[in-house]
Amino acid sequence: MSASTLTESDDQKTQPARNLFEQSPTYRMACRQLQLVAQRFDLDPNIIARLLVPKRSMVVSIPVRMDDGRTEVFIGYRVQHSLTSGASKGGLRYHPSVELGEVAALAMWMSWKCGIMNLPFGGAKGGIAVDPAQLSRTELERLTRRFTEEVLTIIGPRVDVMAPDLGTDEQTMAWIMDTYSMKVGYACPEIVTGKPVEIGGCVGRREATGRGVTYCVMEALEQIGVRPEESTAVVQGFGNVGSVTCQELHARGVKIIAVADRFGAIQNPRGLDIPALIRHTSEGRLLRDFPGGEPMDPAELLTMPCTILVPAALERVIHANNARNLRCRILAEAANGPTTPEADLILSDSDIFIIPDVLCNAGGVTVSYFEWVQDIQQFFWDERKVNETLRDLMLRAFHQVVRLAKQREVSMRSAGLLLGIQKVANEKLRRGLFP
Ligand code: NAD
Repeated sequence: MSASTLTESDDQKTQPARNLFEQSPTYRMACRQLQLVAQRFDLDPNIIARLLVPKRSMVVSIPVRMDDGRTEVFIGYRVQHSLTSGASKGGLRYHPSVELGEVAALAMWMSWKCGIMNLPFGGAKGGIAVDPAQLSRTELERLTRRFTEEVLTIIGPRVDVMAPDLGTDEQTMAWIMDTYSMKVGYACPEIVTGKPVEIGGCVGRREATGRGVTYCVMEALEQIGVRPEESTAVVQGFGNVGSVTCQELHARGVKIIAVADRFGAIQNPRGLDIPALIRHTSEGRLLRDFPGGEPMDPAELLTMPCTILVPAALERVIHANNARNLRCRILAEAANGPTTPEADLILSDSDIFIIPDVLCNAGGVTVSYFEWVQDIQQFFWDERKVNETLRDLMLRAFHQVVRLAKQREVSMRSAGLLLGIQKVANEKLRRGLFP
């Protein structure tokens, strides 16, 4: 049995909820992936029992004075899955559907991602259940600063380091850095990554995840023997990761034939003019109003025929009801957890080359690591060094996963998970159990 043979219904039959995380299907999905890899590769059950539950979690209420004088209370989370390999590391997400179990699953995946990339971090994740588009800039600033204050006791440059994720950006990180620095009494850039360059951010960090996705896609194209100029791509999500992936693929000659964001989708079979689309959206206009594309039904986006499909928005968008209809040669999982286990099972019977999320989107945390190192050393790299080192590490991880998949005759997902889980498990084994 491989990690890809898990289904939600199996999960419900065999796994009554044992803790408050398990009410989340995303968390159950992450746990079953871990259990199946552990069973298949005979990993130490005592270590796996420890890895199934996050090390530390905090739920906070965040009262915010709104611009109209009302007080609104939001719920925020920070989950640290593992502190074994070093500080925990992971994004902070602002989205209405954020809940504890989802954050815990994302934290667990961060541990495997750091393991695959061989970074000295454990996994963490945070989030606030909020629609950032409904808040003014000043409300967002108060929300972010109050959240930082609430989780202050469990974060720190050697304890837990946040980064941007869905719905947060460089400005969010700048507010966190400023709030933390005010509390400790000195400028502490290494408390977050993904900050503006002016205050200790790393050149190329904003683009890092999309670049990492592109490096993996280029290797995958080589594996299936297709040239970039002969390829087409469909991208769901046009935020940080999606827009940079489009830009980087476009720059390498790939034709982007459709893109979507939360407000709609557009297509152009001759290829969208990506630089023009980026100018269009950065001027505050909606993607769906771009004159160089035809509006289309977003529900049809993922099943369009293309060489490369890039989900770069939300989890669980490829599921049992649409997986059979995928018409791509490569599935590059830029988002976290975009493919449900049922869909994975269906896809395992196809010849689609899957670049699993834990590998595909690891460019972000990798350059976050570079940023953290530079902040601690107060010695900054240029963009050439950042991009070259990122490319080296991404290619090394990509080929390690491909080799492991071949050696063990398992899927790319199982191989990626095995590599990441094994690294964390070995470290736990070496350190032993306290007391
Ligand atoms: P973002 O907020 O910058 O962009 C998200 C995009 O998804 C937006 O364009 C939004 O409109 C779109 N979107 C939201 N709902 C949608 C829907 N239903 N259909 C189509 N599009 C929709 O977020 P991001 O930082 O680009 O993150 C995207 C994904 O990548 C997330 O899963 C995140 O966890 C993952 N990720 C991000 C990073 C990073 O460095 N930012 C690193 C690793 C993984």
